[in-house]
This record gives sequence, structure tokens and C-alpha cells, in this order.
Amino acid sequence: MPFHSLGLDASLVRAATEKGYLAPTAIQREAIPPILQGRDLLGAAETGSGKTAAFSLPLLQRVAGQSPTAPRRLQALVLVPTRELAAQVGESMRSLARLLPRPLKIAVAFGGVSINPQLMALRGGADIAIATPGRLLDLVEHRALKLGSVATLVLDEADRLFDLGFADELGRILALLPERRQNLLFSATFPAAIQSLAESLLHDPVRVEVEAGAVEEPAILQRAIAVDAGRRTQLLRHLVKTGGWTRVLVFVATKFAAEIVADKLRKAGIDAEPFHGELSQGKRSQVLADFKAERVQVVVATDLAARGIDVARLPAVVNYDLPRSPVDYLHRIGRTGRAGESGVALSFVPPASEAHFRLIEKRQGLNVPRERLAGFEPVEAPEVAADLAPVPGTGGIKGKRPSKKDKLRAAAVAAAAAER
Ligand code: AMP
Repeated sequence: MPFHSLGLDASLVRAATEKGYLAPTAIQREAIPPILQGRDLLGAAETGSGKTAAFSLPLLQRVAGQSPTAPRRLQALVLVPTRELAAQVGESMRSLARLLPRPLKIAVAFGGVSINPQLMALRGGADIAIATPGRLLDLVEHRALKLGSVATLVLDEADRLFDLGFADELGRILALLPERRQNLLFSATFPAAIQSLAESLLHDPVRVEVEAGAVEEPAILQRAIAVDAGRRTQLLRHLVKTGGWTRVLVFVATKFAAEIVADKLRKAGIDAEPFHGELSQGKRSQVLADFKAERVQVVVATDLAARGIDVARLPAVVNYDLPRSPVDYLHRIGRTGRAGESGVALSFVPPASEAHFRLIEKRQGLNVPRERLAGFEPVEAPEVAADLAPVPGTGGIKGKRPSKKDKLRAAAVAAAAAER
């Protein structure tokens, strides 16, 4: 099915085609016609499904359809959880709006940077605003934005808005919006808070569901490599050098680990940069731009910073540290194999993390075979046998079940080994 049969204007179809969108994705096919009709919509979809264009294209058409002589008023508001997602949605929307006969002003606002340039940019108003909730309220308080004319509200990654503690801000924003408006809510997961938000916010919504992983087959090859915790950096170096990947996004558990691992890779002659919440906004934008332009081969990131990162055709994602939750696992691997491209998602599974990875597999209905790579076979005691194995340097006796203290010591030894 071509884009133009969805009821979109020729200039939007052309902009989409020029971006390389030759045919709509599943969510675009299902969501664009009802949004154009003004219906409310509940979208169960992940990043990677094409959801940004699914709401941006009809939104742009509705906003651009206003009388060209009418004064500029804020007509659409897109709320997003993170600054990266705000920047990304803004960039995508501007490029889709590029060929519209009437130029639209699309404002992007997020916290963590000075408010002044955003205040300046909002002089003369905007047609569409894409913002994180806290900064949006700041701008309203500064009288840089008025929400009384918003005709369409989009909540993007609504579950993350709640996870990141934006529920109060959201309530305050909703109170400032006109009662009659179109509401579009997109979320990857539907915990109770999101369900009740959807019930109170949406009127007779069209429901669109795109199953995780079923978006564009074949998308992501999932692999798991059994390796000792202390040898993960060596293994990563080996894979980056031999894998033929132009770019790799590596996930670690902490900002500290992001710095250390990136540093070790750099010392091995690999272009690597850390990416986490403690870097300045300027540095983060620079790293992302370099990564997109293939000037940096490896980005070592924490979960929060990497959420919503969209780098076209990312060939590989590596879970150096496993994610804490099965849902985060999905979010992480969704960074590769975007929109029909194939990609590989590789998880390092040290013996002590085996049980955790099994839990992730169970929750996601997966069965990822453990691979052992020659030269990197794990020698740490496997988890079950660990109960019986002697603990180095602790005088543990084989065959004797270790005490709780022995186990604590073993964990400390393993953690120290992992640091090396
Ligand atoms: P999203 O789920 O909105 O984050 O989009 C995921 C990726 O798919 C982005 O890199 C988009 O540029 C790309 N994309 C969105 N729609 C299409 C399409 N119809 N054809 C090809 N790529 C697309």
C-alpha cells in the first residue's frame, strides 16, 4: 500500500519518500487515516515501529490545513519523556514538514539546558511544540507558550513519562489544555497507571497494536555469549574488531562503567565514546551526531541516556551488562534492526548472571542459545555448581555446602574480578 492512499497530501508523501519511507509501516497504515479524521487513538507500539511518522504526518496535515491568514497559535503539543526523544521527534517532524506549502514553526523544548534560547525561539509563537513536561511548564510560566488553543495532544512513550516521575507535571499540563481536543497516546507497555490515564484521557479511541518484534520481519537476531564477567571488555574488543560492524551501541549498568569501558576500547585503538546522563547536553549531542555520521564506531551508554536514541541502520547492540528488567531488554534490542533493517543484539551472560538472563527469556517468551566463543569460554564456576565449588582464597572445601558468609565472599571476589 503506498503512502498517498492513506489520505495524505502530496507534499507530505514526497517528503516521506525523500526520507526513504517508500511504503508505510504497519502502525502508519492503521493510525494515519483515523488521526486524519480527528479520532482519538491508543497506540501500543515501541520505538522502531515507525510511530513518530504515524502521528507526525497526519498532525502536520491537520495543522497545515489551517487558514494561512490566521495568526500563529499553538495547535499541537507532543509530550515526550526525554530530551533525546524531543530532539529526535522534532528533527523527524521538521524534515516531514519541509515541503508543505505553508511553512510551520515547530518548537522543541527540553530541560537540562538554558531556557533562554528556547524563550527566544518561541517569540512569535509556534504551531507545534514538542517538549518534556517540566520544561513545558517553565515556558508556560514565562508566558512564552499558551496552551489554550491546542487541538491535538500527543503523549509519546507514555509509560516512560510515568517511570521518569512526570505524572504531576502531566496533570498540571492537562488542566491547562482546552477540554475539546484530539488525544493520541502511545506506549510500549500498559501498567495500571497508563490504563487509567488512557481511560480518562481518550474518547472512543481507535486502538492500534503493533506486536513487539513482529513489526518488520526479519528484524533482530538475538544472541547470547557465555563469558566470564572479567573478560567482557576483551570479548567486546574482539567482536568489534572482527564483527564487521560499522557501529555498535553497548549498554552498561552505570555511568562509571560507560566511562571505563569506552576508555579501554579507546586504548585498544577503537573509536569509542561514553554516553550517559552526567555528560553536558553539548557533549551528548556531539556524541550522537558523531555516531550518526559514523565518526564514532562504538557508543557505550547507560539505559536512561540511550532511550529513544534512533540511529538509522544500527547493525549491532551489545548488552555488556544485562538490563535490570525484561522490558528494558526489549527497549535496548529495539535500537537495532530498525524499520525492517536486520541487526544483531548480543548479550554477554557471565555465569553469575545466568539466572537473571533466564528470567528475561522467560518473561519475553524467548529461548536464546548460549554460545561459547573459542578463547573466551567461561571458567568461573557456573551458578548452580558455585554452591559446591571452592571459593578462591577463602579456604572453601569442595563438597561442603558453603555458608552464607562463603557465598558473600564469593560474590565479592567475582565483583573484584569483574572490575579488573
Ligand atoms: P520510530 O518508531 O518512529 O522511532 O521509527 C523508527 C525508524 O524507522 C526511524 O529510523 C524512522 O526514520 C524509520 N521509519 C519510519 N517510518 C518508515 C517507513 N515508512 N519506511 C522506512 N523507514 C521508516
